[in-house]
Amino acid sequence: AKRAGGNRVEPFRPAFRTAGTDRLQLETDLRRAIERKELSMVYQPIVRLADGEVAGFEALMRWDHPKRGNIPPSEFIPIAEMSDLIEPLGMFALERATTDLMEWERHTGEIPVFVAVNLSSAQLLSSELYSDIRALLGKTRCDPHRIRLELTESVVMENPEQARLLLAKLKETGISLALDDFGTGYSSLAYLTRFPFDTIKLDKALVNDRSDKRSVLLKSVISMARGLEMQVVAEGIESDADAEELAKLGCDFGQSYLFGAPLGSESIQRLLKERFPL
Ligand code: C2E
Ligand code: CA
Ligand code: CA
Ligand code: CA
Repeated sequence: AKRAGGNRVEPFRPAFRTAGTDRLQLETDLRRAIERKELSMVYQPIVRLADGEVAGFEALMRWDHPKRGNIPPSEFIPIAEMSDLIEPLGMFALERATTDLMEWERHTGEIPVFVAVNLSSAQLLSSELYSDIRALLGKTRCDPHRIRLELTESVVMENPEQARLLLAKLKETGISLALDDFGTGYSSLAYLTRFPFDTIKLDKALVNDRSDKRSVLLKSVISMARGLEMQVVAEGIESDADAEELAKLGCDFGQSYLFGAPLGSESIQRLLKERFPL
């Protein structure tokens, strides 16, 4: 679809026509989901492989549809991205995550954990993202160093020049930036140096590759990241043996069901309160 001013997509969307009315219905439902409080955020721990300590959390969106129950983000995020809904949804994620982080701290005192929030390409192309984030950090009095944004390669690809400028500005505030899903698609090494990422997240497909080249691949990707002074998070680690191997190869962090499933804000608060008693 043609992009008009303000990055609004025109109402004619062939993708929806071919996918039938189900998508349209979901889009209509999604439009109301924020007001109806059907959307929420859950938080999955990102742990240091060296000692198993929680370093931060990835914020993941959940939709509890009144009739269909839980709809996974792999289904509703693409719908939001094809409509004008991704911006409000994206701001909802940022706002909830920042507010929840500050709320956890009210119960623990200052704690050294970050929250990582996923960004979509339409958000990155929005002229308001930067000022919205600044306003949010001001309002919640959240230290930008505690916020990490996760972007995939395709998100920055959409408009590399605009992305580079915006990411540089965000980085300057103290926000950290992670390149998500590394090792899928065409992962070009150029992205590692052209954009101010400080972390790369190895996709679970790469982490769990069972071919005999797996170790070689992991080893070189990790050593390259470290050479560029970037931290490495491995996603979807399935066994203690794999965690140990990754740690030996120099991978700093892991995020997978093995280390903890995503949990609601209150569960995280309890977990943090135990670990960091006032
Ligand atoms: P992602 O950013 O790569 O997030 C990691 C996904 O892997 C999450 O799925 C998480 O629950 C899942 N996961 C964690 N540990 C394991 C594991 O050990 N094994 C396996 N197989 N999976 C694991 P989830 O929550 O279903 O999210 C799917 C995708 O939806 C995310 O992939 C992200 O691309 C998108 N998404 C989720 N929340 C948001 C959001 O707030 N904004 C945006 N723009 N996208 C989001
Ligand atoms: Ca992510
Ligand atoms: Ca990922
Ligand atoms: Ca993904």
